[in-house]
Amino acid sequence: MNLTAFQALDSRGVPTICAVLKIKNGTFTATVPSGTTTGKNEAVELRDGGKSFNGKGVSKAVQNVQDIAKKLPKDYSQDAVDNFLISLDATENKSKLGANTTLAISLVIAKANAAENNEPLFSYFSKLSRQTAKIPLPMACIASGDKHSGKCVSIQEFMLLPVKFSTFSACTQAIAEIYYELGKLTAKKTKEALFTDMEGGIVLPFTKAQPTLELITNAIDRAGYSGKVKLALDCAASEFYNEKTKIYNYEGRKLSSDKLSGVYFDLMRDFSIVSIEDPFHEEDFAAFAEFTKKTKPNITVVGDDLLTTNSTRITRAVLQGSCNALLLKPNQIGTVTETLEAAEMARNAGWKVIASHRSGDSEDPFLADLATGLACDAAKIGGPSRGERTAKYNRLLYLEKFHKLKLAKWNG
Ligand code: PEP
Ligand code: MG
Repeated sequence: MNLTAFQALDSRGVPTICAVLKIKNGTFTATVPSGTTTGKNEAVELRDGGKSFNGKGVSKAVQNVQDIAKKLPKDYSQDAVDNFLISLDATENKSKLGANTTLAISLVIAKANAAENNEPLFSYFSKLSRQTAKIPLPMACIASGDKHSGKCVSIQEFMLLPVKFSTFSACTQAIAEIYYELGKLTAKKTKEALFTDMEGGIVLPFTKAQPTLELITNAIDRAGYSGKVKLALDCAASEFYNEKTKIYNYEGRKLSSDKLSGVYFDLMRDFSIVSIEDPFHEEDFAAFAEFTKKTKPNITVVGDDLLTTNSTRITRAVLQGSCNALLLKPNQIGTVTETLEAAEMARNAGWKVIASHRSGDSEDPFLADLATGLACDAAKIGGPSRGERTAKYNRLLYLEKFHKLKLAKWNG
């Protein structure tokens, strides 16, 4: 198989792997995304270490793709390739080959197979997952804190969720217009230049969630979308949890999980929040369960670092009732097949499935096709700026217009 790879850059300027596959129908590429606030149970990203690129090079992963290319099964169906990769790696967390190696191969195989079948990528994913394709609602990061913006709001992502629209293009328009208003309001508050955060939102001049949410709500009102656009948070609470003291350091306050839960209830009372991701640290299945029970049915509780797209962890969360939505990140697990399995498990439990980009992403829009083919309820694709984020918006706009696909509905 004419499969190779090279070291490319992601949106943070950090190396990532891009697989290149030549078949008679053409040449296909797939670029792997990468997280900044990665869950400790995610599959391993193979990095070179050493001095160059601060140790973040991926030349070993590139070499792995080249070595594996010679051994891949002749039948390069998704199943056959992914199962081959899983057994060649033979570790729980892809630590031998690297999940960046395996996902690069798995994704480029998906693109080549779709082309061989003469079908768009979303339709290939739709058939594999036996779902009727639909466009996911955009979960749009409009402002962020913690490690995604360099400012010190503890909550990592403040997102817009346009729930009262019937088309993706109308959702996109609302998000863009709110973004313009938020930019104007921010400019009035600070003399600093306006900065874009890692996921295409705006860096706000606050250190607390309350004023951040007030300004965003103000922007929604001024843009004329109050009631139509709701709010979603990614707390990424592992980032402000101290494992030694078992205490959260939230906005400079030392809080137990009970007190932290109280903070979230205050925010839910004051703002139209409908979804909260990772409200507690990544091992606290019990606190998640308590929170899910208390907030039912108004709030969608999303597991990201808690679940890491991993079927063992999803099973545990289903049994304990720890959440009611899965954040689906292919690079947390390392193959298309395992990503599909995770989505299916979540669906079978009656959960929502929310596909997600990473803070280190690329102009490769595969996530738009994956989320559409798997009929995800929503997709975290960032704010309406930065090319790697707009690549996903623009692909979804294209799919809506030229494949006449319907928009998902947010139930709850
Ligand atoms: C997230 O935490 O949901 C996220 C997209 O950020 P990262 O890619 O840094 O994990
Ligand atoms: Mg998250």
